[in-house]
Amino acid sequence: MARYIFVTGGVVSSLGKGLSSASLAYLLQSRGYKVRLRKLDPYLNVDPGTMSPFQHGEVFVTDDGAETDLDLGHYERFSGISAKKSDNITTGKIYSDVLKNEREGKYLGKTVQVIPHITNRIKDFIKKDVAKEDFVICEIGGTVGDIESLPFLEAIRQFSNEVKRKNTLFIHLTLVPYMKASDEIKTKPTQHSVKELRSIGIQPDIIICRSERTIPLDQRKKISLFCNVSIEDVIETVDVKTIYEAPISFNKQKLDDRVLKYFKIKSRKKVNLKPWKKITKLVLKTKNIVNIGIIGKYVELKDAYKSLDEALTHGGIANNLKVNLLRIESDKLKPNQIKEKLKGVSGILIPGGFGKRGTEGKIAAINFARNNKVPFLGICFGMQMAIIEFARNKLNIKKATSSEFGSSKVSVVGLMSEWTKDGKLMRGTDKNLGGTMRLGSYEARLKKDTLICKIYNTQKINERHRHRYEVNINFRKEFEKKGMIFSGLSPDNKLPEIIELNNHPWFIGVQFHPEFKSRPFFSHSSWLLNRVSCIKNYWESEFRHYR
Ligand code: GLN
Repeated sequence: MARYIFVTGGVVSSLGKGLSSASLAYLLQSRGYKVRLRKLDPYLNVDPGTMSPFQHGEVFVTDDGAETDLDLGHYERFSGISAKKSDNITTGKIYSDVLKNEREGKYLGKTVQVIPHITNRIKDFIKKDVAKEDFVICEIGGTVGDIESLPFLEAIRQFSNEVKRKNTLFIHLTLVPYMKASDEIKTKPTQHSVKELRSIGIQPDIIICRSERTIPLDQRKKISLFCNVSIEDVIETVDVKTIYEAPISFNKQKLDDRVLKYFKIKSRKKVNLKPWKKITKLVLKTKNIVNIGIIGKYVELKDAYKSLDEALTHGGIANNLKVNLLRIESDKLKPNQIKEKLKGVSGILIPGGFGKRGTEGKIAAINFARNNKVPFLGICFGMQMAIIEFARNKLNIKKATSSEFGSSKVSVVGLMSEWTKDGKLMRGTDKNLGGTMRLGSYEARLKKDTLICKIYNTQKINERHRHRYEVNINFRKEFEKKGMIFSGLSPDNKLPEIIELNNHPWFIGVQFHPEFKSRPFFSHSSWLLNRVSCIKNYWESEFRHYR
């Protein structure tokens, strides 16, 4: 039977519950156990799909097409296990399910209440599809004390009774601040947070204390005494220089030991920290730098392109390079400043995006990359913008646009339904913005002897998508005449997946998001190796040349 580990947060948000959960998952896996990670989010949005990256950071997309919290990206990158739709749920989704059942009369006339109807639905989610896992780690979003978290905390309390307390472990992650004025580490916020948790009926078994500096023994003793946990279960996590150090640091603090001890089980294997040590060393020591200009609308918020930032770091790791990102706000990028602003970059990257604002800056940057033979990678929206740029400047379709920005006669990018008559309508044009996109993993067939085919070293790939609009295949011939190569297409040949240019050393646009499947270190699976070589070629052969 699976054992359940619940991770809650106290005092403030953004303490790194996701990273802590992901690190613990790695450590338990490395000790020979099968682990599953889940996230319960207390907000009312049905899923994070329609939330602005400014509000909530990146939307992470799973293979099976779920738009999820960015913490699931950490889970995947640290544990190597592909997350599923059933690994992330929000209050909004829970309520909408319960209300749907109520409308369908499934509660047989009973009064529908938070307890038991909402809490039951939460408990169902926690144990859904759990079969051979030894551990299910469930992170509860938000901070203890929030009104929104209450039903989740009540549900996990009930859950621990149902599966028995000995099969459930509660970890509480809190902030232990350092007060400069008095040169002291303060434990009071942690005490209060645990008090709050206990008032709901949850006694934490392990307290992880996030702190700027090492917590002296006396303070640890205080936390142990006031929070009713043994001193060995007060685990400190001092800020690390790179996230790749986190599993090493948690192991050093014996987090995994304490977890196994709690469940009275032994390690099946010796924990392997070598890969983390190796990449930590690489990330911290490398002096070799490559500058990449990333032009997007959400560059000011670091988390908005989380997977992309991580994927670029992974590319650097594979090539012993530090990738220095020059973040340029597309809205503020005027065509006459491009040369100046992009001075010294070895490559230009336009990431995914939505809406018209900032598009002219992106298009101007693509024009610069195309004409000056600067390596370019356009991801999703970035590829769509490259199509518009090419149509305007090479095909002379001056008004070329995307129907995402309003109806037009020259939508070189648009809803497939606009140009497909008999083909299956994949997405509607209704006003419901949630879940109307092409989401999740789709196959693309690659054309032989193209750059992309060399990079992936195969003719069939599967990558994750998240978009509503498509490059209009009806313009294909015109584009090809002027030197664009449609080097990847959907298996039915209707949807352009990858574009290249025949007179450019490295110009690639992809309709999918390769960053979602990037992992920090790779073992033997072939697609991972492909990705390493993809990035390797990318930086090594082309980018260095332009540095
Ligand atoms: N806005 C574009 C679309 O919906 C691109 C989306 C993206 O870049 N993820 O098709």
